Amino acid sequence: MALPPTDDTIAAIATAPGTGAIGVIRVSGSDAFAVADRVFEPEQGGPPSTRSAGRVLFGRIVSDGQVVDEALLLVFRAPRSYTGQDLVEIQTHGGPAVLREVLDLCLAAGARPAGPGEYTLRAFLGGRLDLVQAESVLAMVEAQSEGARRNAALGLTRALSHRLDKVQTDVTHAYAAIQAAFDYPDEGVPEAQLEVPLAHALGAIDALLATARAGRLSRQGARLALVGRPNVGKSSLLNALLGFERSIVSEVPGTTRDYLEAPLDLGGVRVTAIDTAGIRSTADATEAVGVERARDIAAGADLVIAVFDSSLALHADDQALLASLPHERAILVRNKVDLPAAWSADGLGRSSVGVSAITGVGLAELTESARVALLGEALGAELWVTNERHVEALQVARRHLMRARNAPADAASLDLQDALQALAAITGRGEVSEETLSVIFSTFCVGK
Ligand code: GDP
Repeated sequence: MALPPTDDTIAAIATAPGTGAIGVIRVSGSDAFAVADRVFEPEQGGPPSTRSAGRVLFGRIVSDGQVVDEALLLVFRAPRSYTGQDLVEIQTHGGPAVLREVLDLCLAAGARPAGPGEYTLRAFLGGRLDLVQAESVLAMVEAQSEGARRNAALGLTRALSHRLDKVQTDVTHAYAAIQAAFDYPDEGVPEAQLEVPLAHALGAIDALLATARAGRLSRQGARLALVGRPNVGKSSLLNALLGFERSIVSEVPGTTRDYLEAPLDLGGVRVTAIDTAGIRSTADATEAVGVERARDIAAGADLVIAVFDSSLALHADDQALLASLPHERAILVRNKVDLPAAWSADGLGRSSVGVSAITGVGLAELTESARVALLGEALGAELWVTNERHVEALQVARRHLMRARNAPADAASLDLQDALQALAAITGRGEVSEETLSVIFSTFCVGK
C-alpha cells in the first residue's frame, strides 16, 4: 500500500458525524489559502490568504452569491500548524447539511477529500510528531475512560518517547562498547560498559511490558463475569455495583437463564460485567445450555467474580465451581454476610471477600480487589504501554537484548543492532515501512 501524496491540498470534516453546536472543516496543503479565499468572505479585511497566522476571521461561506452559513476561519501558516503545512479550520454550525456543503465547496475549489488519518500522517512525515505521538492522537480521540485518556496524554506529551529514548541510549552505549572491543580484542568488554547498560535497558523494558495487560484493559475495557449457583445473589451484587436495577432479581432459582451485560466503572477501569446464568449441574435443557455458556464466558473473561451464599451450607456445585476457577483471575465472594453464616470466612479454602449485596457491606473492598486483580503491577507504574504495536516491538527488543547478553561479541553486536531497530520503530525515528504506516493511519478516522 503506497502512502498518499503530501504535496497536494486535502479537506475533510473534522468533527464527529451528527449534529452539534459547531462543526469544523480542515483544509491543509499548499493551496489551503487559495481554497479558503474561494469559499470564505470575511466580514472585515482582506481574504484569508492575506491574513496573518493566528487570526480568527468572522465571515460567511458563500456559494453562487448565496450565503451557506456564517462561519469562523482560523488561520495557520506553515510550519506552525497541526500538519506543518498551511492550514485553515473553518467553523460552521454543526449540522450535517451545512458541513457537507462547505466540504463540497472546498473540493470544488481545488482540495481533494482527505483519507483516514491524513492530517496526522502529514504531521508525522513532516516531523511535527513522532509515531508514538501520532498514535496517541488516535488513542486520545478513542479514550473512553479516565485511564485511557491519561495514557494517551502521556504519549502525546512524549513521556513514553522520552522513556524509550533512554532505553535506546543504554543500548547504544552497550553497542559502542562492543564495537570498541573489536578494535582491542585482548582487553574484552568491560562489564560496566556492557552489562550495566544492558541490565538498565532490560529493566526499563520489563517495567513497561509489565503494564501491557493493564494498558490493553484500560484501552479496550475489561470483561468481568459473575458466576455462581442460582440464588447466591449474582444479580443483586451486579445491581449493587451498578447502583441501579439492571439485572432481573428473582427469588426462583435459575431465572437468570441467559446472561446480562452491564457497563460498569470499577475504580477507573471500564468494565463490562456479565451476569451469567447459574452455573450448576442440571437436567433442565434450557438451563444446561445457559450453564455451558456461562462456563465459556468465564473462560473468556479478564476477571471472574465467583459468588457463594454464606448463609447456606456449601453445595457440591459450589465445590465444583471452586475447583474449576482460573486461580489468578478469580475473586471469591461470600455474599449475604448480613445473614447468620453457615460456614466460616476461610470455608472456601482461599481468601475471599465478604459482602452483602443488600446492605452494601464489603462492596468497596470488592471493587478495590477487582481493580488490583485487573491492573496488577501497573498500578504503581507512571507509564503504561497501551499500544499492541509498541508491546510487540518491546518484546522483539527484549529477545535481542537477552540473546546479546550471552552471545560472543560479533553475534551480540548484531542483536544489539536489531534491538535498536525495534526500539526506533516505535517512535518512528528508525525505519518504518510504508506498509506499517498505512496500517497505523488507516485505523484513524477521516479528518484527523
Ligand atoms: P442470582 O440467581 O445469583 O442472580 O441471585 P439473585 O440476585 O437473584 O438473588 C437471589 C435472592 O437472594 C434474592 O431474593 C435476593 O434478594 C437475595 N439476596 C441477594 N443478595 C443478598 C444479600 O446480600 N443478603 C440477603 N439477605 N439477601 C440477598
